[in-house]
Amino acid sequence: IASELYLANAVLIKKLMGLGIMTSVNQILDRETVELIALDLGIELKDEVITDLTRYDEMEIIDDPKDLVKRSPIITIMGHVDHGKTTLLDSIRKSRVAPGEAGGITQHIGAYQVEHQGEKITFIDTPGHAAFTEMRARGAKVTDIVILVVAADDGVKPQTIEALQHAKASGVPIIVAINKIDKPQANPDNVMSELSAHDLSPEKWGGKTPYVEVSALKKIGIDDLLDVILLLAEMEDLKANPKRPARGTVIEASLDKGRGPVATVIVENGTLKIGDIIVIGNTFGRIRTMNDDLKRRFTEALPGTPVEITGLDEVPHAGDIFMVFTDEKVARQTSQARSAKERENISKQQKATSLESMFGAQDDGQKVLNIVLKGDVQGSIEALKGMLDKIDIEGFHVNIVRSGVGAISETDVQLASASKAIVMGFNVRPTAAVKSLADSVGVEIRLYNVVYRITEDIEKALKGMLEPVF
Ligand code: GDP
Repeated sequence: IASELYLANAVLIKKLMGLGIMTSVNQILDRETVELIALDLGIELKDEVITDLTRYDEMEIIDDPKDLVKRSPIITIMGHVDHGKTTLLDSIRKSRVAPGEAGGITQHIGAYQVEHQGEKITFIDTPGHAAFTEMRARGAKVTDIVILVVAADDGVKPQTIEALQHAKASGVPIIVAINKIDKPQANPDNVMSELSAHDLSPEKWGGKTPYVEVSALKKIGIDDLLDVILLLAEMEDLKANPKRPARGTVIEASLDKGRGPVATVIVENGTLKIGDIIVIGNTFGRIRTMNDDLKRRFTEALPGTPVEITGLDEVPHAGDIFMVFTDEKVARQTSQARSAKERENISKQQKATSLESMFGAQDDGQKVLNIVLKGDVQGSIEALKGMLDKIDIEGFHVNIVRSGVGAISETDVQLASASKAIVMGFNVRPTAAVKSLADSVGVEIRLYNVVYRITEDIEKALKGMLEPVF
């Protein structure tokens, strides 16, 4: 903002101080503050009006207030490993599935919805903050409320703090679920005092953060937790317009053998219908089927609803925004223009990457193994990235040039060729055309279906012992 206004940073900071606002150089200012400065300088602010459809995901939708109705809250559960996130997600889901409903068989699609006191609540079913952070990095802000799970017998741990920092950075309200209160060593007061030091003072101590004591395993306190969620959602006043064409975010996506590309999306505004034409990230689709985690089929999905959709041309990324288009031709052109733009960005990025790795090699004498990583689901990619980061062999360094969900594509091979990388596929394969391109440009493609084989191979490769594949 300082540079836009031709002001020195220090001058802007001083001006803000004069307005009673303490800031640092790299702080993000909210609109109100910027308006204050503009007023002070006698400058008129204008909103940028985006008309370029390829930037549909940056367009803001403004609804007529009279069309807005209440929508269900979208919840993410975060917390330290083993503190009970998965168990809590399971108990909430099970406690709400009526016996006999769809045989009671649930399927993991990445999100589910439950009903409590006649109201719906949506849970994102990928615990941990990896998914949350990844989505935030892509600009998606799906979560309305974060539940921070802390085990009463273990207290605040490093990932608890990371999780609460992520939640705070995105400005999402937090409910603390003190879990495992069934354990004899449980000490909820300890959790409360530890978290108070992180600005999460409990309501019962005069603070602002709601705390609920639960046992995910013994299903104690689940109803209380859902009550508190509804209460907080009420205060957040979440609204959407069901009458408009839908828009929302991809939670998970993968390639299904029978159904082709499938994606779980949460509809954030509007109503998504069978037959709708959508642009979803860099790809295009016409909604063929919609179902939930109980395999119930839908013809319409209202705001706040998570649905698994089919009918897409390609597998999108988690965090991609989708939007319904009225004109099929325009939608196709938009998705094509977006993927052309991405290819362009990748070629810019690959120059940067290979330079970077060269510098890396010179700077600290380290050798770099560049990898393009493709997998069938976001979860396995995240897990692999985590494992690859941990590989520690002196003088070597693993650099993931690109990673993503879906079959190995020509772009992957081109990128690998430019950055002298090998392509690793986890539960995915290249088509014959891609394979022959790889052969012609001398890019190695390695396919895996067991996680540890990848790290094993990389360690071998780093030690220069890797046998070539035929
Ligand atoms: P996550 O890593 O946070 O997803 O944790 P999990 O849900 O996998 O739970 C880790 C372990 O804690 C498992 O062995 C669970 O059975 C156990 N656990 C989870 N919730 C409770 C609880 O409320 N009480 C007790 N006693 N154990 C729990």
